[in-house]
Amino acid sequence: MTETISGHRGLVMDEPLLFEQDEAGRTGVDLAEPEDLECRLGGLERKGRIGLPGLSEPQIVRHFTRLSQKNYAIDSGLYPLGSCTMKHNPRLNEKVVRLEGFAHAHPLQPVSTVQGCLDVIATLAHWLTTLTGMPGVAMSPAAGAHGELAGLMTIRAALEDRGDARKRVLVPESAHGTNPATAAHCGYEVDAIPANDRGRLDLDAFKQALDDDVAALMLTNPNTCGLFENDIIEVARLLHDAGGFFYCDGANFNAIVGRVRPGDLGVDAMHINLHKTFSTPHGGGGPGSGPVVLSEALVPYAPLPYVVADGDDYHLVEHDEGGKSFGRLRAFHGQMGMFVRALSYMMSHGSDGLRQVAEDAVLNANYVMKRLKGTYHAAYPAPCMHECLFDDQSLKDTGVTTLDIAKAMIDEGFHPMTMYFPLVVHGAMLIEPTETESKQSLDQFCDTMVGLMRRAKEGDAEWFHTAPHLAPWRRLDETAAARHPVLTWQPPGGEEAAA
Ligand SMILES: *Cc1c(COP(=O)(O)O)cnc(C)c1O
Repeated sequence: MTETISGHRGLVMDEPLLFEQDEAGRTGVDLAEPEDLECRLGGLERKGRIGLPGLSEPQIVRHFTRLSQKNYAIDSGLYPLGSCTMKHNPRLNEKVVRLEGFAHAHPLQPVSTVQGCLDVIATLAHWLTTLTGMPGVAMSPAAGAHGELAGLMTIRAALEDRGDARKRVLVPESAHGTNPATAAHCGYEVDAIPANDRGRLDLDAFKQALDDDVAALMLTNPNTCGLFENDIIEVARLLHDAGGFFYCDGANFNAIVGRVRPGDLGVDAMHINLHKTFSTPHGGGGPGSGPVVLSEALVPYAPLPYVVADGDDYHLVEHDEGGKSFGRLRAFHGQMGMFVRALSYMMSHGSDGLRQVAEDAVLNANYVMKRLKGTYHAAYPAPCMHECLFDDQSLKDTGVTTLDIAKAMIDEGFHPMTMYFPLVVHGAMLIEPTETESKQSLDQFCDTMVGLMRRAKEGDAEWFHTAPHLAPWRRLDETAAARHPVLTWQPPGGEEAAA
């Protein structure tokens, strides 16, 4: 790629940090010099610059606009990141959430003035319990991982209440990293259960690991290989017989919503990532929302606060005097903006539409699986659920790795698929197209994937190793970035300028 004089490329601008664009005294506002200024800081007045960059308004506008243009998003193209469910976020949701009563509500307002918001929370809770076939739901968790924490704390409270201090939590090897992390954070010993050769929980290994010290099993269904755990009813029965609780990671609920009710499978607690299944925008660490549905046995131990209806009025239960709630998980009642968007999504789809969401998500994933399976090695034979999993067997002897394919995808204008997860498969490539992609965009994606494999087989490994070639940044040293992160910016004048 030829270098340019400016550092820009096409209309993609080289974007320095605001601090690097700094010019002392430059400002976006024109304030008059104050007369008779009297310092009221008792000698603490500023002696020099504090290191904030001097910038004009157009500079700031351009800076953030350019950064936003560098940001690949579901609104700019296909985002096949497996497990993350990067589906289209309907604009209707955005319109509804900007209604003044929702957008301007404050969590410390008197309850009588936010009845509409509480109605949204209660209605959404009703739909979540209906769709899952579970009697209760805790709405406050702020993400899937936070929902896992809420679920395990509820389970621990229930066990403690019956004087049963169990120590172990079983987690399949294919689980999302948050599962063992949550269990460990709750003070449990985590025991990994291997997958069988069909990509499901190994039932015999599970039976062997199960005893009366097991507090819970955390199982994802459909699992992170994109497969339905078809022994799930037997698993739930064995677990309950041993006195343990069944935690289901519901991040993949989008594959079965409207078709399967987890409550019918024997699940005791399951978080629902509203930002995945119910389309609220997410990425880069937030926002999220992870309500946890709970079985009859767990409902009394659920976290505070919760909403109760009293005739036409809604109340918030903030304290649980004499009750069994394990307490409060966070300051307020949950992610209101996500609640409104998720409810808007549900109501605009209706029950038939939600069922179709699951069906089309599965259809699209199987289409991709079918188109790629002759070229890439499918980790498990089709059919899959909402995502398809390939390993790196087909790349053998090419010198090209899963990472190289992902980097080359960036040059091709696609966000890479999920790589090296789940861990049960070598060089995993996990592709989740979601139901909102058209056949054309799926075909373009598949053609690109097939083309890259052809290139890899033609012996172009060197080209792959230096990809991406067309992105603003070339291949980054990810190890150095993780080991020696540069988290502070030093002003050019050093300490003197910062004083
Ligand atoms: C996304 C995901 C999580 C974690 O959810 P967050 O909302 O990101 O905290 C847990 N398990 C699985 C399988 C997931 O895909």
